Amino acid sequence: MSDWQEQGLAHIWLPYTQMQTAPAPLTVASSKGCRLTLADGRELIDGISSWWTACHGYSHPHIAAAVAAQLQTLPHVMFGGLVHEPALRLATRLAALLPGDLERVFFTESGSVSVEVALKMAIQYWRNRGEAAKKRIVYFRHAYHGDTFATMALCDPEEGMHTLFAGAMPEQLMAELPRDEATRASFDALLAAHRHELAAVIVEPLVQGAGGIKMHDAATLAYIAEACTRHGLLLITDEIMTGFGRTGRMFACEEAGITPDIVCLSKALTGGTLPLAATVARRHVFEGFLADDPAVALMHGPTFMANPLACAAANASLDLFEREPRLQQVVAIEAQLRVELEPCRDLPGVADVRIKGAIGAVELAGAIDLNTMRRRFAELGVWVRPFGNVVYLMPPFVITPDELRTLTAAIRTVLGERARTL
Ligand SMILES: *Cc1c(COP(=O)(O)O)cnc(C)c1O
Repeated sequence: MSDWQEQGLAHIWLPYTQMQTAPAPLTVASSKGCRLTLADGRELIDGISSWWTACHGYSHPHIAAAVAAQLQTLPHVMFGGLVHEPALRLATRLAALLPGDLERVFFTESGSVSVEVALKMAIQYWRNRGEAAKKRIVYFRHAYHGDTFATMALCDPEEGMHTLFAGAMPEQLMAELPRDEATRASFDALLAAHRHELAAVIVEPLVQGAGGIKMHDAATLAYIAEACTRHGLLLITDEIMTGFGRTGRMFACEEAGITPDIVCLSKALTGGTLPLAATVARRHVFEGFLADDPAVALMHGPTFMANPLACAAANASLDLFEREPRLQQVVAIEAQLRVELEPCRDLPGVADVRIKGAIGAVELAGAIDLNTMRRRFAELGVWVRPFGNVVYLMPPFVITPDELRTLTAAIRTVLGERARTL
């Protein structure tokens, strides 16, 4: 180990990590396509696209060139009173890609903050209309919407951090996903009982990500949208994970034919290169903030919002969606996952297998030694990082069939080894 590694490891604090017992993290030296090269020379095939961001693989030359050119002309400028071409072009393109009149884009730098902005939009929208009591939010079991205080309060209470921070977060209302008659009735009853104090419902459309990679169908999503209309509530879809092709459409909400009032985007927005997020509002939401009174304006503004380098990367990423057959690649990945991952269902210790677009999840039953399992995957030459009780793949869309086969084979190997110990 080099000096800088040994010294640095004594000073960094890793996310979601028990620093006393966790094995040392792997040091990555470079990345290309679907592969990570470690400082010790080993190469790993990446099965999870760096927390679901690197949809075009790593170090794509088109994105690199766009960022390099932007670095020469305007790396950053404040977005208060000043704007720039990369942000204006990107806002126009996002508005054109999103359904309906989702047409006003507020840029931030992380997914959690884009959800915070959506919440502020929803709450202030009602306040601006003289309905200041409408400020609570309905979220769903297994949801994940971020790690900041307001977003933690919208994460699954058992898998999330509600116990750790009880009393320090706003209290929101959790519902079951309205998948059948019984859950639809209770969802409706909840909305009816609380509508006077509710601002919005928030949902991860079709696939709930960090809360366990749980999936629901388009009819469930359409029902949520319809119930929001009926009860006069705003619908926020958090497409931070599902957006940009991951479920097979550019945005998951398209599959249900709905236009949410507010959409949150991040993760794959820049193709996994630079931090950027966007909260996109429908015209009527935006118009709710128009008045002679300055206090009616949206009160938010991160220092690095709409960073030009990040916007240039996002524009380059959208170019690639236009020029290359990304959504067809997702269809091919889904088909291959069905053939190669679905059979894990028959292994002892496997509770469920879920596949949608370029997402494949194997839910396990019983205790899981995550550290051991993660180490084993690295030994097999793949970067797969199970969490909770799921082992999952969300590979870059450019992954080759051979690379994907290596990933699914590694999962079958590791789960087969586990099955023999049960
Ligand atoms: C990752 C994620 C977030 C949080 O984004 P950060 O950039 O990590 O703050 C919120 N919602 C969903 C659905 C996500 O997948």
